Amino acid sequence: MKKLMICIGMAAALVGCAPKEKETVEQPQPKEEFKYLVDEFADLRIMRYQIPDWDQLTLQQKSYIYYLGEAAKCGRDILADQNFKYNLVVRKTIEAVLNSYQGDRESEDFQNFVVYAKRVFFSNGIHHHYAEDKFFPEVSEAYFADLVKGSDASLLPLNEGETVDDFIAFLTPVVFDKELYKMRRSSEEDIIANSAVNFYEGDIKKAEVEAFYNKMRKPNDAMPISYGLNSKLVKKDGKIYEDVYKADGLYGEAITAIIGWLQKANEVAENDIQRNYTQKLIDYYTTGDLKTWDEYNIAWVQDSVSHIDFVNGFIEDYGDPMGMKATWESVVNFKDLEATKRSNLIGENAQWFEDHSPVDPRFKKEECKGVSAKSIIVTTLGGDCFPSPPIGINLPNADWIRKDYGSKSVTITNLMEAYDKAADECPRSALAEFAYSQDEVDLCKKYGSDADVVHTNLHECLGHGSGKLLPGTQPGALKEFSSTLEEARADLFGLYYLAEPRMVELGVMPDAEAYKAEYCSYIRNGMMSQLARVELGKDVTESHMQNRKLISEWCYEHGKDANVIEKKVRDGKTYYVINDFEALRGLFGELLAEIQRIKSEGDYAAGKAIVEQYAVKVDPELHKEVKDRYNALGLKPYGGFINPEIVPVEENGQVVDYKVEYPSDFVEQHLKYGKEYSFLKAKH
Ligand SMILES: [Zn+2]
Repeated sequence: MKKLMICIGMAAALVGCAPKEKETVEQPQPKEEFKYLVDEFADLRIMRYQIPDWDQLTLQQKSYIYYLGEAAKCGRDILADQNFKYNLVVRKTIEAVLNSYQGDRESEDFQNFVVYAKRVFFSNGIHHHYAEDKFFPEVSEAYFADLVKGSDASLLPLNEGETVDDFIAFLTPVVFDKELYKMRRSSEEDIIANSAVNFYEGDIKKAEVEAFYNKMRKPNDAMPISYGLNSKLVKKDGKIYEDVYKADGLYGEAITAIIGWLQKANEVAENDIQRNYTQKLIDYYTTGDLKTWDEYNIAWVQDSVSHIDFVNGFIEDYGDPMGMKATWESVVNFKDLEATKRSNLIGENAQWFEDHSPVDPRFKKEECKGVSAKSIIVTTLGGDCFPSPPIGINLPNADWIRKDYGSKSVTITNLMEAYDKAADECPRSALAEFAYSQDEVDLCKKYGSDADVVHTNLHECLGHGSGKLLPGTQPGALKEFSSTLEEARADLFGLYYLAEPRMVELGVMPDAEAYKAEYCSYIRNGMMSQLARVELGKDVTESHMQNRKLISEWCYEHGKDANVIEKKVRDGKTYYVINDFEALRGLFGELLAEIQRIKSEGDYAAGKAIVEQYAVKVDPELHKEVKDRYNALGLKPYGGFINPEIVPVEENGQVVDYKVEYPSDFVEQHLKYGKEYSFLKAKH
């Protein structure tokens, strides 16, 4: 629930575009200019990010980051397999073709195949990383078969004794059939049978999953483990059991590789605090014991002194239709000291914000513990954070650990910078298209970036950490609506406080006008521009998008009588214009109070009602208009990254330094990862 995908205004999220024509540079440049935007295909753009301040790290720190980075790359297969049971088969087939196909590589067909390959790499599977629906290669089945036949058969993931023809017969419907495995995660009943995701095996019904875990739960347990987090639930011969992710269990080969790198990392850790929790993480990976996972998190969350930090594990449950099972992810990073000063100011004032929030006092935390906020520079992204990463992270996820020990909130500054810079490399913008007036454009250009960052900080540092459950409320009470409501709560907390005069007094916001930029872009995005990411005729299903739609639509409707947000049409184009910023802030506060109530009381019916009324259904006419306007701009709605390569520099057989290289070929990086970091057998 706590990963901030490009949550913030679409300023950053909707900026990709065709690479700009080369401009002549008049002045001699001291350094070669770093290019952020390097590739575009389908609805995706590929960027690079820099690691500033690398040379200020010590050799030991660089080694530590290097080992953690290797660990971060070792779980790539795990994620692919979690997303769908045949993803590895498809990906390894694609790799075999790209690595060995002997035929014409210049043809349009082959280029179309390469686009499919890139999309599979990007999405870690055959379903869209965001919309979660299956996508298809724009080549014929016959051509696809020719590619496979024209490649080195020894590289194909064939079963023992299986002919290439038999393999193609198996694979073709997996790749091409429109109805087969069509959603990675579905909200349509039966949510398990209709989801292609690989967290459940055998004919298991939602009610059986609930019964299985309800039986495990202890009543009135103040420190419940995250039931079901690290396993696949299997039904075989009428019996249901967990196949646990651990060194000698499911995904064991990849987990063993991760453990190996973590052990090496521990030899050069900065301090004993790191060594201790990393050892806990290794123990957990070895045993699969979720109690150990909690112990690891408790130790990890209390480390605010180390310069280097990492996330590595089965963490977020967005991908599971039941909201229990976590996908594997990793992020390696170190502190951005300058930017951390600002987020610290927010963190230090956490109690004041909690005390003054517009929610019912019964739902407030009496004591905000250890809200640690920092800005970080990432060095390697892995698993579910790669290639499409969050820009903010707030962990751990267990509610009771957050309550008793606090949480770590981070904003990833070098990724946010990359988004901004990539936008600068592009001549057209969604802002100009969807903003009603030049004033609005100017406002957003002047303050947009700053206000975005602060909103992200507030969302992560305070939003997710605020409030409490009433005694007796089950953490999972909101079930399938929990992610959307949780994101809405965090966003609203941020939106409400962005306009707080104290933000200017603290020096966090530049002046009393700046928040308006975020309000404009938030409403523009929630009402309209984010719809560019949804296929015509489809509902909004992704929880961050649902949350933004919920907030915008709810405020539009509840402010209608006072004309707080006005719908205007000019030259056949729709705009949403904020007439009264203070009143809008009031509405954000009102909705925050209601959603906090829903969460605190575990009011499933109210949560369901508000999500279904405001967050899901799209006006088909407006949807088409937004898509048309957006498509006319030639922008790509989703962005992802190529990892920098951290390379050991050896002298006389000794590593004396690590240098950073910035590769620019997306396919090459994935083929390299496929060769060097693939540990799981592709089964079918
Ligand atoms: Zn969030």
